[in-house]
Order: sequence, then C-alpha cells, then structure tokens
Amino acid sequence: MLDTLSDLRGSLAGEVIGPEDPAYDRARRCFNALVDRRPAVIARCVSTRDVATAFDYARANDLEVAVRGGGHNPAGHCVADDALVIDLSLLRAVAVDADERVAHAGGGATWLDFDSATQAHGLVTPGGVVGSTGVAGLTLGGGIGHLTAQHGLTCDNLVGAEVVTPDGSVVEAGDDGELLWALRGGGGNFGVATRLDFRLHELDGVIGGKLTYTGEGVREALRHFREVVARSPRELSCQAGLSLGETGEPALWIAPCYTGSDAEELESLRAAPGLVEDGVQAQTFFAQQNLFDSPYGVDRNYWKGHFVRELPDELIDELIERIGALGRPPGGLLIESLHGAPKDAEDSSGVVGFRRAAFNVSAMATWQDARFDDEHIQWARETAAAIEPWSLRGGGYVNYMQADEPVERVRATFGDEAFERLQALKRRYDPDNVLRRNQNIPPN
Ligand SMILES: Cc1cc2nc3c(=O)[nH]c(=O)nc-3n(C[C@H](O)[C@H](O)[C@H](O)COP(=O)(O)OP(=O)(O)OC[C@H]3O[C@@H](n4cnc5c(N)ncnc54)[C@H](O)[C@@H]3O)c2cc1C
Repeated sequence: MLDTLSDLRGSLAGEVIGPEDPAYDRARRCFNALVDRRPAVIARCVSTRDVATAFDYARANDLEVAVRGGGHNPAGHCVADDALVIDLSLLRAVAVDADERVAHAGGGATWLDFDSATQAHGLVTPGGVVGSTGVAGLTLGGGIGHLTAQHGLTCDNLVGAEVVTPDGSVVEAGDDGELLWALRGGGGNFGVATRLDFRLHELDGVIGGKLTYTGEGVREALRHFREVVARSPRELSCQAGLSLGETGEPALWIAPCYTGSDAEELESLRAAPGLVEDGVQAQTFFAQQNLFDSPYGVDRNYWKGHFVRELPDELIDELIERIGALGRPPGGLLIESLHGAPKDAEDSSGVVGFRRAAFNVSAMATWQDARFDDEHIQWARETAAAIEPWSLRGGGYVNYMQADEPVERVRATFGDEAFERLQALKRRYDPDNVLRRNQNIPPN
C-alpha cells in the first residue's frame, strides 16, 4: 500500500522531499522565477522501479504528476501545486561507449554532465547552449544549439531510450520505431525517459565566441548574418540576438561556432558594419558552451515566437522596431538558424515539425521585478504577433512555449497528420493523460 508519505519513503530507493523538509524550497525551484509552485511531494527517483512507484503513489493519492529534468522549461511544467513531482536529478550519469560512438545519459543529466563525459573522449552530440539545461527535456522538444548545422537537431541524434509509462511498464524506444519517432520532438507526453542514447561525433575544438554590433550597423549586420548562413557550409552553426544597451540603443550579437578549416565566412561576419567587439577565437567546445550561462531561478521569463520561412528585410525592420519597444534591458530577440544538417534528415525520422524553417525567432522577455510582469508579457506577445506573418505554419517551439499556449498552437507546431499520429500513440501509452503538465498531446 502506498497511502502516506512514509509509505513512499519506505518504497523509494531515491529521496522523498515533502513541504516540511529543509530541501523542499530549493527542490521546487525552477529556472523561471515567474513560476512559484508548491507540490505535495517531490520523488527523486534513481531507477525505473522508483519511477513506477512514484506513478503508483500519485494514482493512489489522486495527485497530478509533473516531471522534472533540468527544470529549465520556461512554462514551469516541472512543478505543479499539490502535485507529485517525478524528479530525475539523481539520475545524471552519462556513460560513453567511445568505440561504438554512443552515449547513454540518465533521464536527469544536464548538458554540463553530458559534455563533460563525452568531451573526455573528444566526442560530442549537438545539445543546448546552457550547461544546466536538461538533456531529456531539450531533446524531447527538438534541440537547437552550437552544432546544429554540423550534426542536426539534438533529437536527430537520439537513437534509443528507456521509458517508464504511467502504468509502470518499461519500454525500449529502440524496439518501438513509432515511440522513437514521437520522442524526437513530441515532448514528455509518452512516459518518463530514464535513459537516452545518443550518436556521438568527433570534436576537438571550435572557432567560436561572440561578435557584437551597435548603432546604425545593426540592421546591415543582421542582413549580413542572413546572407552568410544562407550560403554557409555545414561547418558553421550560427545564432544571433537583438538586445538593448544601457542607453536604450539596439545591439546585435552573433555567435558563430565553426568547425572547418577555411574560416572565410567568419571574416565576412567580421566585415559587417557596426562591429564593436570581436570575441571570436579558437577555443574548446566547453568555452563555447559557456558563452550564454544564465543564473538559475533568478529572472522572470516569458518567451513566445515562431519558426519563420525566411528573414526578409521587412521582418528585420520589424524586429529592430520591436527591440526598441522593449524599452529597457535585459531581454531580447533570439534568432536561431536552422541551415545545414537539420535539412538532411528525412521528415519521417521524427515528429519534430520545424526542420524546414529557415530560422527560429523568439521574443524572450526577461526581468526581475514582479511589478513589470504585465508589461513584459505583453511585449513578448505583441512581438510574436508581429513575427507571425512569416511563420512556417503558426506553431512555435515546444521547448520555449509558455503554459498559456492553446492546444491549437501545439497542433500547428506538428501539423494535423502528425498530431493525430501522436494522439494515437498517447492513447496507447498514456490513455488517461497522466502526463499532461507539458506541451500536451491530449489522447482524444
Ligand atoms: C537558460 C535556457 C537555455 C536553453 N537553451 C536551449 C538551447 O540551447 N536549445 C534548445 O533547443 N532549447 C533550449 N532551452 C529550452 C529547453 O530545451 C526546454 O525548456 C527544455 O524543456 C528544458 O528541459 P529541462 O529538462 O531542463 O526542463 P524541465 O522543466 O525539467 O522539463 C521540461 C519538460 O520536459 C519533459 N521532461 C524532462 N525530462 C524528462 C524525462 N527524463 N522524461 C520525460 N519527460 C521529461 C517534461 O515534460 C517536463 O515537463 C533553454 C532553456 C533555458 C531556460
């Protein structure tokens, strides 16, 4: 019987944290400080059996379930009031088979855990750009980062997974092609991944860092970025961002990550007008992965955006106007290029619905003072509305979506046919929609 918290404590090999425990406040915190929720219990699982036990306890006590990997999802789906949290932060080991070029990551591993294990062998998988982000959460939503052009989306490199479904069954996604297809972009809808297997690639170092442009040059430099990525070889991944300086003038950063031997395109980026800071140099992949470190649980965040078909001058003008409308730093607009390897993968290899887009353009409002909540949320919503005319098909990036996005937006992200295929799989693995604290695929 699993009726009380002490029953759960007696049954779980991992830790059980309740509201009275000193660790509770830290354990319920997520990256987005806008999210402040008090779960009934946090079950830190260390095995598939623990996860099945946690599901049993939630069922016996009629508790909602939230699943926590790295706690980064801006929607705060990793924690819910009065719920049971299946917390995977003790399942962080990453085992590398260097001969087979495969890594097996625990369901709660972060990118810092992953890169540390794989780079020890000079190997890598294209992951997220911030070390504390969860490997599982990021992969299940797609995964865009510093090596996207070279090796594709993170989920393109997912070759297997061990998944515990809400009825306690353990499924190997490698044995179920349909489940693997769904895990490549369909989010945490089908079960709790306790292990994820990734293909690895050789990587010694990169030429990377950040280029910063200000003043009148910003518009021209952004056009230049567009031209470079449009013709660039797959050795160059590139992201860009618009922000505001302390005096309120727009600034542009471009973060190339180059792994080839002829850095001509980098020179071309350097030649763009308005360059005020050049931090691009030969460096380790770790240094590149430290470029965007952001503090955990400090800032309030509200993100909204679109995958766009193209980045024409009109959209660039719109983005520069919208960054001006932000009024004060921090916060900004992120422009992630999807050129290169994502375009090589077959559409049928995974459900992820955005690989044909040219860029992912996201309004990222970030602030600290709760008095400015409405203002910043409105800015992000208005900015996404301004980008929408160029949207691939109206959907957004599930990894950046807030909890207030309607199911129609999730459907648009995948397209009708794929969404219905996901629903069929949901009926098979989670017919009661136990896993609904996510960018949800309802079973019906
Ligand atoms: C600072 C920051 C940087 C980011 N950088 C990138 C980036 O470079 N590229 C990119 O593509 N995205 C990036 N993201 C977005 C990020 O990929 C998503 O928010 C992702 O959901 C975070 O995963 P997590 O495990 O850390 O989050 P959590 O909030 O713990 O989990 C999010 C959801 O993922 C699911 N989930 C997590 N773990 C598991 C599991 N083991 N099994 C089943 N379901 C699980 C659950 O549904 C859960 O609700 C970033 C986000 C932040 C805040």
